[in-house]
Amino acid sequence: MLSVYIHIPFCIRKCLYCDFLSFPAEESTIEAYVEPLLEEIETESPKYAAYRVDTVFFGGGTPSVLKAGHIEHILSKLRNCYKFTEDPEITIEVNPGTADRQKFEKYKNAGVNRISIGTQSVHDKELKVLGRIHNASEFFETYRMVREAGFDNVNVDLMSALPGQKAEEYGATLRTVMDLKPEHISAYSLIIEEGTPFFDMYGTDCSGTEQSLCLPTEEEERLMYEETGKVLSKEGYYRYEISNYSLKGKECRHNIAYWKRYNYVGFGLGAASMVENVRWRNTAELQEYLNAFRELKPNGKALKNIKEEIQHLNLNEQMEEFMFLGLRLTEGVSRAEFLKMFCIDMEEVYGTVLKELSEKGLIECSERIKLTQYGRDVSNYVMSHFLF
Ligand code: SF4
Repeated sequence: MLSVYIHIPFCIRKCLYCDFLSFPAEESTIEAYVEPLLEEIETESPKYAAYRVDTVFFGGGTPSVLKAGHIEHILSKLRNCYKFTEDPEITIEVNPGTADRQKFEKYKNAGVNRISIGTQSVHDKELKVLGRIHNASEFFETYRMVREAGFDNVNVDLMSALPGQKAEEYGATLRTVMDLKPEHISAYSLIIEEGTPFFDMYGTDCSGTEQSLCLPTEEEERLMYEETGKVLSKEGYYRYEISNYSLKGKECRHNIAYWKRYNYVGFGLGAASMVENVRWRNTAELQEYLNAFRELKPNGKALKNIKEEIQHLNLNEQMEEFMFLGLRLTEGVSRAEFLKMFCIDMEEVYGTVLKELSEKGLIECSERIKLTQYGRDVSNYVMSHFLF
């Protein structure tokens, strides 16, 4: 099986905390991006003739800045060039203010069956601080249109630990979103990344920042994190990954494929891939990407190789990834799968680490190895133990 990721790097405006590969662009640039993307999908397809596509994910950026016709075109190219499983999951990320009812209906007709709405907050004050283009009522309007168009698998992205945010306000956001009954919620804490305007404002110290816009203290951040688990589990959401919650059967198959290290291929600017233990990413230079597929060589290949950072994972790297990606999932990792995959007992490789983490109350060990609640709270510390 194969998961396909399509990167659409365009956004109306850059949010103040964002370090994703995304930027505003003229309509003509957005139009010019689609043709090379279609070429890439087609020229790469012979390599994946033996696979069946089980998930497609349009991510970004803001994929919904593309015309619906472009999404239709990309999906029909994929269907023409690749074999699909019977019931593929096809997701598109949408930001409020960039899609109307007609667009959602076209997505539906094109085969999209899952919508992920990036709202982050339902408070205008917080959305403004983040530099988002939308306000809360545009989010509610988008959600309503998505449902009216007939989508029954919807994710809402939320973010906590925002500047000036209090635990009660975040709790109110959670409850408001709960009332809408989305099938899935991704709840991440804000991370201040270097190179973003937020890093200049908050990265080193925020002593010059207006008191009401300071980042929450560690204690407040912990309260918000705990609130997420409490509120969502009370409403029947199941935490299947450290930051992801869903109703039963509505887990995101595409993301699970990443955490389980299934094969995935990314198309578009900067898109990452991992196929049969080889990782790479496409160039992040827009002009280079556009030029590579403008003309094709007589053998149908791109004029320039756009794959970068090609890494053939050795056995140790594969085992590390198996552990630290798999442990993100609530179900954890299986000793039997480890043995089947690497022909060596997990105990032989990680016996000492498992004993130490188990004694500290960070993991539970049986046939499956899972993080405890305490282990989830300090997951980065736990995962670091599995690196060689
Ligand atoms: S909408 Fe998303 S990808 Fe675009 S700038 Fe904001 S955070 Fe970044």
